[in-house]
Amino acid sequence: MHDLSRRKLLTTTATVGAGALVPGIVSGGAPGAAADSGPASPPGRDRPTPGGERPTPGWDGPPAELTGRIVRPGDPDYPSASLGWDELFEHYPLVIVFAQQTRDVVNALAWSRQNDVALRVRSGRHSLEGWSNVDNGIVIDVSELKSTEIDTAARTAKVGAGLNQLEAVTALGQRNLAVTTGTEGSVGLSGATLGGGFGFLTRYLGMACDSLIGAEIVVASGTHGAKAIEVDLDDHEDLLWALRGAGNGNFGIVTSLTYRVTPLQSVAYLQATWTGLGDLRGVFDTWQRTAPFADHRLGTQVEIHKSQILLFAVLAEGSAAEVKELLKPVLSIGSPQVTVQTGGWGEIYAGFQIPTADEPANWKFFSQFTNEPFPREAIEVISAFMADAPTEDSNFFTQAFGTGAQNRPPRGGSAFPHRDALFYSEPGAGWGTRGVPNSGDALTPVAQAWIAEFSQALRPYVHGAYVNVPNIGMQDWETAYWGRNVDRLRRIKAKYDPYNIFQYEQSIPPATC
Ligand SMILES: Cc1cc2nc3c(=O)[nH]c(=O)nc-3n(C[C@H](O)[C@H](O)[C@H](O)COP(=O)(O)OP(=O)(O)OC[C@H]3O[C@@H](n4cnc5c(N)ncnc54)[C@H](O)[C@@H]3O)c2cc1C
Repeated sequence: MHDLSRRKLLTTTATVGAGALVPGIVSGGAPGAAADSGPASPPGRDRPTPGGERPTPGWDGPPAELTGRIVRPGDPDYPSASLGWDELFEHYPLVIVFAQQTRDVVNALAWSRQNDVALRVRSGRHSLEGWSNVDNGIVIDVSELKSTEIDTAARTAKVGAGLNQLEAVTALGQRNLAVTTGTEGSVGLSGATLGGGFGFLTRYLGMACDSLIGAEIVVASGTHGAKAIEVDLDDHEDLLWALRGAGNGNFGIVTSLTYRVTPLQSVAYLQATWTGLGDLRGVFDTWQRTAPFADHRLGTQVEIHKSQILLFAVLAEGSAAEVKELLKPVLSIGSPQVTVQTGGWGEIYAGFQIPTADEPANWKFFSQFTNEPFPREAIEVISAFMADAPTEDSNFFTQAFGTGAQNRPPRGGSAFPHRDALFYSEPGAGWGTRGVPNSGDALTPVAQAWIAEFSQALRPYVHGAYVNVPNIGMQDWETAYWGRNVDRLRRIKAKYDPYNIFQYEQSIPPATC
């Protein structure tokens, strides 16, 4: 999932105008949090249509109105505003609200409740099952909330929920500060952090969610309203715990995130390439037995393709010589081509982002964690499936965990459970040409079958799954994502979203009593 699976977000340019009313969808009434005290009404399925005003079911207070930058079917930018990163999934929402401020999010949530319209929350659009979008519903998009407030002395950063990872790493890097993120710059910081968030700095700084010390989140209020609340270790501590690893679209719409940040002056970044898969057994076995236990400043990923093996490493506050020395056991296998760069984390991170416009349009992944080293048979499974991969972009990706900061939950705990993993891994299939409709169709069944069979063949050697890379076919997905935390998450869901407004294919159901 490292460099061959990147894609620049499509930017939307046309604007209806901040604060604009949406003719036909809203009627008058003051914008703002829709406090309500009306009786509970079960959600119905009677949805409004664009262009048709209708009474709000079970609500006789002032109607909420949509505010922010609003895009509807027929608008010139609707096609690009509707598109997700993974073009395998297409959705046609009724309306997309690009929030410009928290109030727009409050209004949008109240509007969706009062009009009984299904909703989805979206930031960086990288949901790997297309779950941040919905047909005939409202997409509440926070990607234009781009504020950054960095307090260097206090070592905290409060950022808008619309930053992507590259923007966050760059803003912090300019002050020689860092927080863990994933490697793909265009992934939303919100989506990554709220599901856990691992990357090159995980063994050094923990999961991204471990550094989350506060958030502003818009939650449902009463039967038809919405309100913004501040969450931290003193207020709504239970919700902060849940947002640290289970917050994606489950409890509310996060509008800002506050992180504890850490000084980071420089890193050494290494890339090694082995041509062909001949050295796979030696490289993989040595990597899994050494890199997860090396100096905690070292973060590594292995990415195996049909015709090459790639090792990527970042050594925080380290030199080129040090990173090579730490990886000597792996680098001494075969004859890899090795390059090392040193520099500020912001520049190095920006430097390894690869333009994605010409990369595959469609992707399918399957996530898993591993506690024990893969036996020889498992490595042979990888070798056999990669040799038969549907495209060269398809890959088997791993991220070292092992010993490191991620072993220790943050103060207040977190819903992310996979702290004892040796490594994370995922087979990923990529196919089709961006911008060319249906170009991948012929390969779709081949790629889908390959992923299904590959992940099934590895089941004896893996456990659990990563909510940020959802496994659609998994029966016990809740336990796979959150282990023993499921019951507590359901209780917190019942407390903050008792009407189950935030609902999608694998959302957490509220506890029933
Ligand atoms: C190419 C690629 C590389 C990746 N690499 C890594 C990696 O190195 N490490 C890693 O940990 N993960 C990685 N991921 C997984 C990534 O963390 C998830 O896909 C993430 O959820 C995407 O977030 P987003 O904001 O871009 O996506 P979106 O599609 O906008 O949202 C994803 C989910 O989060 C919810 N959500 C988004 N914003 C909010 C919000 N403000 N409040 C509440 N819910 C919200 C959405 O409803 C949806 O359920 C990668 C994914 C891709 C596609």
